Amino acid sequence: MKVLIHICCGPCSIYPVEAITASGLEVMGFFYRHNIHPYSECLKRQENLEAYARQIGLRLIIQEGYDLEGFIQNVVYREKDRCTYCYHDRLRTTALLAKRGKFDYFTSTLLYSKFQNHDLIKSMGESIAKSTGVPFWYEDFRSGWKEGIKKSKDHKMYRQQYCGCIYSEKERYYRESKT
Ligand code: SF4
Repeated sequence: MKVLIHICCGPCSIYPVEAITASGLEVMGFFYRHNIHPYSECLKRQENLEAYARQIGLRLIIQEGYDLEGFIQNVVYREKDRCTYCYHDRLRTTALLAKRGKFDYFTSTLLYSKFQNHDLIKSMGESIAKSTGVPFWYEDFRSGWKEGIKKSKDHKMYRQQYCGCIYSEKERYYRESKT
């Protein structure tokens, strides 16, 4: 049985890839790029993941192109709800790729993060599974949160400081002046 896993970054891939492999399934990774801004940051995360994948023998599909403009156009005027679009596009793109590649399941490292809306990702994955016909591999990877962080530090991996889009970068660093 084969699983295609959407990977947001190298550190978040460690525990989910190990957990699925331990369940006896074959895993391939898919790196989605449109929501990671700016481009230099996207490349940094991609290169970090590629280096890790080479180390552990994980096969990877890297998304073609870099549609920052399309991403922004899809969330403009509803920036506060942007994660709904972002989750959906990442999961749906992964499911469609899994369908083309005849994978048995699709899933996402989004299920590993303590900072994402886990229940929404789960229900979206299940609904996309119904519409595409590709089963969603649901597992609460958050149980491996600390283990994944420790291993990423042991591997000296690049650990990003914000989720991905330019809005999340602002939320991470911008503080209004009090004067
Ligand atoms: S904060 Fe993260 S999940 Fe939300 S839209 Fe930005 S990149 Fe996507």
